Formats: sequence, C-alpha cells, structure tokens
Amino acid sequence: MGNNGNIIELKHITKVYEDGFAAVSDFNLEVKRGEFVTFLGPSGCGKTTTLRMIAGFDLPTEGDILLNGKDISQLPPNMRPINTVFQRYALFPHMNIFENIAFGLKQKKMPKDEIRRKVRKVLELVDLEGFEHRSVSTLSGGQQQRVAIARALVNEPEILLLDEPLGALDLKMRKEMQLELKAMHDELGITFIYVTHDQEEALTMSDKIVVMSEGKIQQIGTPEDIYNEPANAFVADFIGESNIFNGIMTGPMKARFAGGEFVCVDDVPEGTQITAVVRPEDIVLTGPERGQIRGRVISVIFKGIHYEITVESGRYEVVIQSTKSAKVGDQVGMEVEPDGIHIMIAEDHTNVFNVDMNRNHRLEFNGTELNTSLTQLIRGSHRNENHELLDENGEVIDPEKVRVTAAIEPQDIRMTDDTDDENVLIEGTISNLIYKGDHYSYVINTELGQDFIVDDEYLWNMGDLVGLIIPIDKMRFTLKK
Ligand code: ADP
Ligand code: MG
Repeated sequence: MGNNGNIIELKHITKVYEDGFAAVSDFNLEVKRGEFVTFLGPSGCGKTTTLRMIAGFDLPTEGDILLNGKDISQLPPNMRPINTVFQRYALFPHMNIFENIAFGLKQKKMPKDEIRRKVRKVLELVDLEGFEHRSVSTLSGGQQQRVAIARALVNEPEILLLDEPLGALDLKMRKEMQLELKAMHDELGITFIYVTHDQEEALTMSDKIVVMSEGKIQQIGTPEDIYNEPANAFVADFIGESNIFNGIMTGPMKARFAGGEFVCVDDVPEGTQITAVVRPEDIVLTGPERGQIRGRVISVIFKGIHYEITVESGRYEVVIQSTKSAKVGDQVGMEVEPDGIHIMIAEDHTNVFNVDMNRNHRLEFNGTELNTSLTQLIRGSHRNENHELLDENGEVIDPEKVRVTAAIEPQDIRMTDDTDDENVLIEGTISNLIYKGDHYSYVINTELGQDFIVDDEYLWNMGDLVGLIIPIDKMRFTLKK
C-alpha cells in the first residue's frame, strides 16, 4: 500500500469558521484500513466538524486529508469512497424501504436487477430482510436507523462515517445496536469512523479512541490505554469515574495527596507537583485503623453491581466502588495498592495574560485601570521633569515599546454570578470543570477569547456566566521590552 496500511491520514487539520471560531485545531490522525476508530468528547468539541471534513461537506482551513496516500482535500463528497450515517436518519418519508436504499444507485443509473440484488444484501446485513415494501412510518427508531445504515452501506464505501448514529435511541436499543454495529464492522472489514460523546459506547466498540476537547486531540489510544493511562486530568475525568487530586512527590515512588502518603509505581522526581488519579474501584475500604487515609461515610448509593460510597476525609471527598455496602456515618479506612494510583506531572495552570498601557502610563486590563504604574513595575525606574520614564541607569524607556504580562494562580481568582460587581475584571462562561477532591478546577471562556483556569470550592454549572475577580495584589507582572 505504500502508506503503512493507513487508509486515511489527517495532517495538521484546522477548521476556522467564518466567525473566526476555531472548531478544530491542528488535528493529526492516522487510521488503518479496517480499523474502528471513535472520536469521543463532550458536545461542541469539534467531532462533527472533523467528520464533515473527512466526508467533504466542509473544507479544512488548513491541513491535508490523504486517502490511501493521495490528497483528497479538493474532491467533492460524491467522489470520495466515503458514506455517512447521521444521528437523524433523514430517510425519505414518502418512499418505501427499497426506494430509500436504492435511491443513490438509481441516480448512478445502475441496472435494475443489480440494484435489487444489492439492496437485498444490505437489508440482510442490517437484519431487515423482507422489509423492502414497508413504508418508513411503520418502522421503529431502531429499524429506521438500520435502514439509514443500509443506505450508506449499499454504496460499498471504503470508509463509513457514523455521527452519533444511536443518539436518538433508547438505552436498550442503543446497547443492542452497539453490538450489531460492531459485528457488522467485523464482518464487512471496512473502516468505521464513529462519533460519540458517550464514553462507555466508545470503550465498548472501538479499536482506537481519539479523545477530543475544545477542538484539540487530548489522547489517542486503545480503550485500555485511555482508561488505564489517561494522558491528562481531562481524559481521566471524562473516561470512567475518577478521583483526581493535586499532590506532590515526597520520595522515590512516594506521593502525597488527599491528605495521605501513598506508594506508587510511577518514578517521578521528588518535589514534583503532580495530579494523582485513582479509580473508585481501586480503593478498598478497611477498618479505620488501617489504610493510608481515613474518614467518614457521607453517602451510599446502590448501583446494581456495586455500591458507590462517598467518604469525607479531612477536606477531601473520595468516591469508592465496592461490592460491600457501608453505612452513612461509618468511620472507615481507605487503602490503595501502588498500581491503582496513576501519577501525572501537573500541568502548569498559571493564567498569563497581556495587560495594556493607557495614556497615563498606567496598566489596564479589559478597560479597567489596575492600580499599578510602570515605575512601580520596573525596579529602580523613575520619571524625569518631562515626565519621561527612565530606567535605573537613567536611560529613557519608551512605554510604547514595552509589553506587560500579568500572571495569576487559579486559586487566587474568585468567581461571582454578579457580573456587575465593580471588582469584576472580566466575564466568561464555564466550558469545563473537573473535581479535584477538595475543589473544582474550571475553564472559563472569556469575552477576550482567552481562557482562564479558576479553582473554586463551590460547584458551578457548565455554561454559567461568571464574573472573575482577579486581585491586583496577587498578580505578578512581567515586563518584556
Ligand atoms: P460536536 O460534534 O463535537 O458536538 P461540532 O463539530 O458540531 O461539535 O462543533 C464544534 C464547535 O464549532 C461548536 O462550538 C459549534 O458551535 C461550532 N460550529 C459548528 N458549526 C459552525 C458554523 N457553521 N459556524 C460557526 N461555528 C460553528
Ligand atoms: Mg456533533
């Protein structure tokens, strides 16, 4: 094949919409022939946009799409050996099942008996043999979606794209169709690129999962890789249930987090700030005198196969899955084996942003004057009688030529729902949140287009409009000439 068996390659794909919004940024992916690849991520993260570029309904702003090693970026959709199944089945209601499936083939002027043969074959494949003459309106949601799949498969595409195809079905039907789609994939041997926001669906069906957030790939891996070795806190939080804590390495294979000290298997240098991920099923409840940490049970929920038990331990909350129950109020110990702890080097969440200089040579952010001037900022600087700014050697500094950035830690920013509060420097909406055991870590998309990371002990909702109170005395300013 000459291209390592890759049927499709996306190279540095970026999509910026007319309004300037970057829905997908620098997306790189190789898909092997016959693979079942799933794009997984929350609503709005750019899954459909990426799929539409592969199908040819949208063109990338930047980057190349290669099919069997050849650039197809400029090919119209109908010239690509690719078909799409959408969440909304979009069947023609006035046509029967046969006509719905045969529609594309008739357009291509294929001989009638060949059409009939092909339609029969795909109907068999989706378990609807004999349904040719039924009308669309007599079918259940699940059956309609099978027709939509049959209609895509009848073109014998090399790649089948499926955009949340089971999203409109009820849970039981969805589970059934997941297994059937997987079986269909194995039987046909064609490449499936599947989109879902449902992590369980992705883990069950895929050979390879691409985890996305805000237009960027967070991790690519097998379901096992993604579950056992999440690349960052976003992936750990999004896939399965997790306890996520900030912590620090205290010795060789020793980490401190959640108020306890734990032996782990990751060799990270002492003193490194870390994020520790512990799956609820990897925590064992013991008597209060044992275990690395202890606390009091504050809730117990029966989940069918196991109990979900929440324990308050100092200022942390820890979630545990256990087949044995516990009582609210019980004092318990919690034990985690070294291989149940996943250590990641903490990302630096310091917020760094540009501040402007106003006409009075005072710093300003988003229209608010900060009570700081350049003379306070530049050590040894002062003004002469012409009001020029001089550095400690008496050299004139041109205020137009300096750039100032401010840095603030996530825990030093406060959020308020009163966006008219005079202390609010900027407002934005919450686009992501991760619980870290004793606080939440939020991503705020601001009106300036810059995201801020804010730690807050209270639970806010996704999409909430909040004002950010950023104390000036906690900002650290840096000057660049
Ligand atoms: P997903 O399928 O992961 O839910 P989409 O790819 O549909 O996400 O959308 C990604 C982002 O791009 C969203 O924020 C969405 O609002 C935005 N978007 C989608 N289509 C357009 C468009 N035509 N113009 C501007 N923004 C768009
Ligand atoms: Mg979508």
